[in-house]
Amino acid sequence: MATSDSRRSHRDFEGNRSIPNGEEVRNVRDAGVQTDAKVQGHGPRLSKANLFTLLSLWMELFPKKEPQQRENDAAGDTGLVVVHERMVLGLHCSSAQLHAGQVAVVKHGPRLKGCDLYFSRKPCSTCLKMLINAGVSRISYWPGDAEISLLSGRHDHTDSSHQEAILDATAAERLKSNSRPHICVLLQPLACTMQQFVDERSQNCDFLGKIAADNPTLNVKDLFRREWWNNLDDLFKKFFINDEEQHKYVLNKMGLENFCAEPNFSNLRQHMRNLITILASAAASVPVLEENYGFFMREPLGMGSPALPQDVVRHCIIQARLLACRTEDPKVGVGAVIWAEGKQSQCDGTGQLYLVGCGYNAYPVGSQYAEYPQMDHKQEERQYRKYRYILHAEQNALTFRSAEIKEEENTMMFVTKCPCDECVPLIRCAGIKQIYTTDLDINKVKHDISYLRFDKLNGVQKFIWQQKSSARHMSEQDALPTANGYMKRKAEETHFQCSKRLRS
Ligand SMILES: [Zn+2]
Ligand SMILES: [Zn+2]
Repeated sequence: MATSDSRRSHRDFEGNRSIPNGEEVRNVRDAGVQTDAKVQGHGPRLSKANLFTLLSLWMELFPKKEPQQRENDAAGDTGLVVVHERMVLGLHCSSAQLHAGQVAVVKHGPRLKGCDLYFSRKPCSTCLKMLINAGVSRISYWPGDAEISLLSGRHDHTDSSHQEAILDATAAERLKSNSRPHICVLLQPLACTMQQFVDERSQNCDFLGKIAADNPTLNVKDLFRREWWNNLDDLFKKFFINDEEQHKYVLNKMGLENFCAEPNFSNLRQHMRNLITILASAAASVPVLEENYGFFMREPLGMGSPALPQDVVRHCIIQARLLACRTEDPKVGVGAVIWAEGKQSQCDGTGQLYLVGCGYNAYPVGSQYAEYPQMDHKQEERQYRKYRYILHAEQNALTFRSAEIKEEENTMMFVTKCPCDECVPLIRCAGIKQIYTTDLDINKVKHDISYLRFDKLNGVQKFIWQQKSSARHMSEQDALPTANGYMKRKAEETHFQCSKRLRS
């Protein structure tokens, strides 16, 4: 399939390709078409569309303080990613008061014009009409159950909530066909080596590396696999309609009849499985080890904002782990996200937290990265090494931020690797107040990159991934919370179910 088209630059291929009608069908049918990474002679990377889709699913699972009960509203939790050109403007989820689409309108208003939105469920007509009105460019959604569930009450034809759901789906379809924005399912086939790539990166990430360094006898591969099965089972329950007839019913009601015919249907489902599996790998890279590991301060400062709950920190770190899957570095993927704690607004499912910026390590924007040196320290001549050309995840997150960093607010950076000496002064001067990371490389000099300054960084509260017992002066707020029971499952119970489902 190596056409002249696919030899165009990676960014061009993904970002500027026009999306004709029917793209959704073609995208899924041509499994294995996404060979642009291969053409360039690189390892696989997650495409933008898939990254944003995964982030939207993950955002649906943002830990909530207490279980939400909506009044007079049948809509389920929904995650949302708002993107404008290269920049992620917002990561949101629905709250007790507002749907995700409504959150976007309240938070971004006129800035939604020209944006691409990625939803974890097809938004309801209430959300759609406002988003179309705001002039968004594209709305993409995960092809599972809709925001107003089409599955609940389906077998009882007198169920009024089910009748409402069908009316809403019909209205959403009418809005879709009469509107300018492209409303579609945008899942791109994964390169065949993608799962292996994400698995390896996840297993070798610094969080598991730290556990391995602390416990030389522990089999970290087993630990990873166990966590992976746990996550997989939960994610399948949440995002996959196991019953094929039910899935077809939902697709039909959502105006996606095209997907119900073979081979489209099988391809769509396989593609959904593949993406869920990637998400499970990213989530397993920061294991939930009850009462054992978490993000704690070494030497707590007297002053400063209280630490975030551990489940929220973990959620943000996994956002960064997902971003790292789009790295342009041939070897080490790093992701960073910056969140701030606002003074008000409870309308977002993220509470007072709002996204400031996010990034991954990559060559400068707009460059044909294949022209830059790719070699690491094994290349004898230093001029042929990559280090002087790659932008670090922290640098990209700061550069492409969508909000200003405010002195009076607690702004937090979550990064998947210890910040290097190039990044530490940037983080400090940008006004970051807290940093959540791992220090596996602290005080090391690794050929062309050094990590000597992080240890001496003052004025920023450092929460480091470590064993709870090794964190001194534990304060009450650092205790591992138990609020979010989402990941807690027994691996042994789920193992069989998952393997069966993957094969089917
Ligand atoms: Zn809605
Ligand atoms: Zn750096």
